[in-house]
Amino acid sequence: MRKEKEVEKETGPLFECKCCGHCCHGVATVSVTDEEQRNMAAFLGISLNQLRKDYLVIGTGSISMKIVDGHCIFYRADGLCHIHPVKPFHCKRWPLHPSILADEAAWKAIKADCPGFSPDITWEQAKMLVRKHANGS
Ligand code: SF4
Ligand code: SF4
Repeated sequence: MRKEKEVEKETGPLFECKCCGHCCHGVATVSVTDEEQRNMAAFLGISLNQLRKDYLVIGTGSISMKIVDGHCIFYRADGLCHIHPVKPFHCKRWPLHPSILADEAAWKAIKADCPGFSPDITWEQAKMLVRKHANGS
């Protein structure tokens, strides 16, 4: 889930999204808030009901994006996100997840999954990045 270009500049050599698309693939996607759904519908120029019917999965307790061919329905063939300006908070924040702050095993797992991190980045530096971008900006 690509970070904004400005964030990539700020995080410099410690993290730079490679646009590999790995984090947009899998068997599930992230949850989407009501406000995020409204923003997504407005961005796509469709109604909230249409968005939910065509793009979302209504689960018990959460709403997420559909998976198609092993990836999020908004993942484009060119490797970019179709709804980049309005993608959910969890996508904007990734891979700087708060679990990195307290759990070195979580940090190692996330680092192993994301080629955007510098190979030399330390856990302390990763925690600094998480704190700096806690709001997903
Ligand atoms: S896995 Fe990492 S490098 Fe690849 S698209 Fe996601 S954030 Fe970017
Ligand atoms: S909304 Fe965009 S960034 Fe988030 S999982 Fe889907 S394709 Fe990836």
